[in-house]
Amino acid sequence: MSEAASSPPRSIEILDPAVARKIAAGEVIDRPAAVVRELLENSLDAGASEVEVDLIGGGTELIRVVDDGHGMSRTDLERCYLPHATSKIVTDDDLRRVRSLGFRGEALSSIATVSKLEITSAPADGVPRQIRIEGGRLVSNGPAAGAHGTRVAVGDLFYNVPARKVFQKRSASEFQVCRSVFVDRALAFADVAFRLRSGGEVRVFLPPDDLCGRISSAYPNLLEPALLHELEASGDGFRARIVAGEPGSPRKDRKTLQVFVNRRRVWEYALVQAMEYAYRDYLHGGLYPVAFLFLDVDAELVDFNVHPAKREVRFRTLPEIHRRIVRALADYLRVFDRRAAPPSHALPFASAVAEPRPAFDLNRVYRPDPVVADQDASVPGTPGSAGPPDRSGPADEHGPFRYLGQIMDLFLVVERADRLYLVDQHAAHERIIFDRLRNGGSGQELLFPVHLEVDPQGHSVLQEKRGELRRMGIEIEERDGTWELVTVPSLVSVEADTLASLLMDLLERPADFERELYASLSCRSAVMDGARLSTEDAQRIITEVMDLRNAVCPHGRPIWIEWSREQLYSLVGRT
Ligand code: ADP
Ligand code: MG
Repeated sequence: MSEAASSPPRSIEILDPAVARKIAAGEVIDRPAAVVRELLENSLDAGASEVEVDLIGGGTELIRVVDDGHGMSRTDLERCYLPHATSKIVTDDDLRRVRSLGFRGEALSSIATVSKLEITSAPADGVPRQIRIEGGRLVSNGPAAGAHGTRVAVGDLFYNVPARKVFQKRSASEFQVCRSVFVDRALAFADVAFRLRSGGEVRVFLPPDDLCGRISSAYPNLLEPALLHELEASGDGFRARIVAGEPGSPRKDRKTLQVFVNRRRVWEYALVQAMEYAYRDYLHGGLYPVAFLFLDVDAELVDFNVHPAKREVRFRTLPEIHRRIVRALADYLRVFDRRAAPPSHALPFASAVAEPRPAFDLNRVYRPDPVVADQDASVPGTPGSAGPPDRSGPADEHGPFRYLGQIMDLFLVVERADRLYLVDQHAAHERIIFDRLRNGGSGQELLFPVHLEVDPQGHSVLQEKRGELRRMGIEIEERDGTWELVTVPSLVSVEADTLASLLMDLLERPADFERELYASLSCRSAVMDGARLSTEDAQRIITEVMDLRNAVCPHGRPIWIEWSREQLYSLVGRT
């Protein structure tokens, strides 16, 4: 046992306020980008129409933010860096109605505690003054030169917190983080001009613009403005603007699926999913839309006071918002139905049509046509091969196929009876879950039932579908004329809120109800592209799908593509 551990416990002392403040400051300000975030928010709260950020050493040496906002009076300037100093709320009640980005009154005091800070400010009709603070202590206070607005310079960040000084070494990466914080703030304030300099050089300049213009200048390599469209949606207590990209220009990751609530960027998965869901028929596995959601919600309906950097938010009316967003996007996307729907969509899922396999065509290798691969009808004996495998019994775990591995983070490579198959792991798994859901399953009870908001038509659809829903593990109950979601299916992993909005969305298309519900739930639960599968899991998936008569996923896409030995031979010029 070490000496420290064996010595008697010390008695409890109340921390020296200066030490306590340093600890608390570290929670708000953990790296240069946090300073950039807080100072930008203050400038925007001050109603600035132009904001400039200057960084030296990625913010580790100097961060300077200059704005033309309303500035501070002499008394305000002398108070602004003290703990719990804020002009934005006074009472507990104000906290529920807050519209400004800041409200805790701890940003400047935290920055002041861990840096050398200089604030120069002048209200529109007053003379500029400047204060300097080092490690939380005022070192000078007097008149200064300057225009109206505020200039805050933060030097030597963490000079008195050695543990945080490590950042000094990584100025390039700190710059990148500062840059993305800067862009996040700029997107939600398109009418404000923003400039970011690093080492004196302008790195980003965003003139005042409309939303589409702001997004395309903030992400210059993303999409031309012509491919972005601004949509609107609204409901009780909220209004949404969505900048949606055309489905023909998808992305390979979710970076361009962004959500802003009351002008703050938040990481709200349910809303990201709402947008992805709206594009589901246009973009398949591994492709994501460009969609930026700017949601304005009555302050009373959201709570931002749940995360130190306000990156998280709690909503009181999420399902309704979810539904309106999906609908606005779906209405917009309908324009592309004629242009973009892949031909495979036309395939009815349930009917197994044994179409004749077309004669071999080289194009088929590169652009496999979506005709259903029906093995029973078509595994021809090939010269020199042992002929078609015995297909009288179902394939078991050691079935007559050989799994060769996973490629491109997506395809399972399979050899079987002189044919080569590339099986799309997501599509295949989706189909397996789809079939299981159709066969029914049990439900898992929710701790808190979720309210379903339905109109009279929806009400009768729910009554009619109730039995079918129960069969797949979704229990809904009617109480005093309103509906609640009480269980979610055990078979799939889906959030109750997401399922609720999905149900409400589908009520508007009762004809497709079951099929759409099964398809969406399977898509959410299936292994994603890029997921590494163990050999056993891969073999299990292959075993379950290889003998399907109509091997398409719930959206109608083929689950695999295949080539015979002849086709492969002919590709390399053998005969
Ligand atoms: P909060 O933003 O939560 O109120 P801060 O510590 O960030 O707390 O700022 C404290 C106060 O200083 C603000 O409430 C505001 O009155 C004033 N202030 C800070 N920055 C500026 C600025 N750029 N322009 C005008 N006033 C500012
Ligand atoms: Mg603030």
